[in-house]
Amino acid sequence: MKRVHIGLGANLGDARATLEAARDALAALPGCTLVACSSWWRSAPLDASGPDFINGVVALDTTLSPLALLDALQAIERQHGRERPYRNAPRTLDLDLLLYGEQIITDSRLTVPHPRLLERAFVVYPLLEIAPQLTVPGFGPLAAALPAVQGQRVQRLE
Ligand code: ATP
Ligand code: CA
Ligand code: CA
Repeated sequence: MKRVHIGLGANLGDARATLEAARDALAALPGCTLVACSSWWRSAPLDASGPDFINGVVALDTTLSPLALLDALQAIERQHGRERPYRNAPRTLDLDLLLYGEQIITDSRLTVPHPRLLERAFVVYPLLEIAPQLTVPGFGPLAAALPAVQGQRVQRLE
């Protein structure tokens, strides 16, 4: 059993409803238990185009291997109509594997910790909400990432 953290994002369609459906789909995956879900956060697109994003983070306990979990995340994205017309395109749903326990993974399909986790306020804030004591392998305490992202405007939704 591994504790994993997954980042959810959407900026097309009813983004919030999509994220809630994705959270439920993650909770229903075989070998997975939903441990925590952050608030939803709104942010302006960073390297992307289109409407504002809604983002959040969930914690799962899972018996799935990292690549089996990635396959499951991509299947849920496809169920919600995810297309990849170009890099950073607006998307109905994006599911990123942020952390897989304390493991460091460098596979052609999968890099964990997610390489851009620490640069993104829309990941750091919701992750701190549900795991304030989290240690990021190869980096240290997640809270130490705060100063670098504090200039980015993100808004926690009720
Ligand atoms: P970013 O990675 O900067 O957040 P993105 O989420 O828009 O960008 P995608 O188009 O969703 O990028 O994914 C591109 C590829 O990234 C996927 O096909 C997947 O194999 C790979 N990938 C590598 N590491 C991860 C990870 N930790 N979580 C999800 N996908 C990953
Ligand atoms: Ca992403
Ligand atoms: Ca992704």
